[in-house]
Amino acid sequence: MYSADGIGLAAPQVAAGKQLIVVDIDPEESANPPMILINPQIRRHSSDLALGQEGCLSIPGVYLDVRRPELIEVAYKDEQGRPQAIVATDLLSRVIQHEMDHLTGVMFVDRVENGLLLNQALTKHGFSKGAVKPIAAA
Ligand SMILES: [Zn+2]
Repeated sequence: MYSADGIGLAAPQVAAGKQLIVVDIDPEESANPPMILINPQIRRHSSDLALGQEGCLSIPGVYLDVRRPELIEVAYKDEQGRPQAIVATDLLSRVIQHEMDHLTGVMFVDRVENGLLLNQALTKHGFSKGAVKPIAAA
């Protein structure tokens, strides 16, 4: 994740069949260790949606806008198995939702609403539009 300048990674991206994500939105700041979320569940989310650019270590070079709930409350277990919960907004909210999507096989490109830009970006970077399975915004 760090070697590719990523700020999040989900276990399925490295062929690990676990419900686990790692998030570190400030990798330069070693005082803030990466967050490990095991079996994360979104308990609630805001009805307010925010549009923001996303990229993915699994689809290098493609950056597109995705609409997601601005705020989420997530319950999860930490690496010691202790139940935890956080309320996340802004970038942290977006990264957690992006990584949690990976746990159910959803890629951010599946959520891109602008089909024209999606097609252009995928083609430019050698990916296939046929691999995208559109999902309605949350
Ligand atoms: Zn990703």
